[in-house]
Amino acid sequence: MNKQKNIFPHIEGIIKKDQKEAFLKQKALVVWMTGLSGAGKTTIANFIEKELYKRGYFTQIFDGDYIRDGLNQDLDFTIKGRTENIRRIAEVCKLFVNCGVIVFSCFVSPTKKMRDLAKSIIGEENFIEVYVNSPLIVCEKRDTKGLYARARSGEIKNLTGVNAIYEAPINPDIELKTDVLTIEQTVEKLIDNILPKITYSK
Ligand code: ADP
Repeated sequence: MNKQKNIFPHIEGIIKKDQKEAFLKQKALVVWMTGLSGAGKTTIANFIEKELYKRGYFTQIFDGDYIRDGLNQDLDFTIKGRTENIRRIAEVCKLFVNCGVIVFSCFVSPTKKMRDLAKSIIGEENFIEVYVNSPLIVCEKRDTKGLYARARSGEIKNLTGVNAIYEAPINPDIELKTDVLTIEQTVEKLIDNILPKITYSK
């Protein structure tokens, strides 16, 4: 998409990210969770948010279904629609990260190109890629939203893993194998990994 030419964003005067982080006593971060539908992105984010809340961290979850129901309800599931979905949510993540917030972003984000786009918008220093990895066969067995059954019957045409591509991350910052770990073990592993990154230090 082309950049607007006659727009002049004024960002000089606003309270800066590090001041907001000091206010919240935490370091901002976007935890970008990618994986097949049913892999466990939302479940993990919900558990971890509650745990971090207890420990005094200020967080926000962005979930594919929720965002597609509102902000991105005009977008389809073609590669173009999915890329625009990711671009917009990455821009929203960037706004939140500049407010000092710890964001959990739960989107299938099926291609490397889409995840790289998100990373470039948000900024590498604020971004970690978490591969929520569960084999298709396990996700399909869980079929938490009934999507796989509908895709197999031909009702849904673009379901990732069935009739749309998923490029697994080759070198994610963190990999969570949710077919072998329990939810509690998965959450513990993620918390252990991100705590050093979100702990406030002057
Ligand atoms: P996604 O958000 O990736 O589409 P969901 O979180 O909606 O996936 O669904 C994942 C399902 O897998 C849930 O029913 C959850 O209880 C189950 N599950 C089993 N083990 C795990 C685990 N280790 N981590 C996360 N979810 C798990």
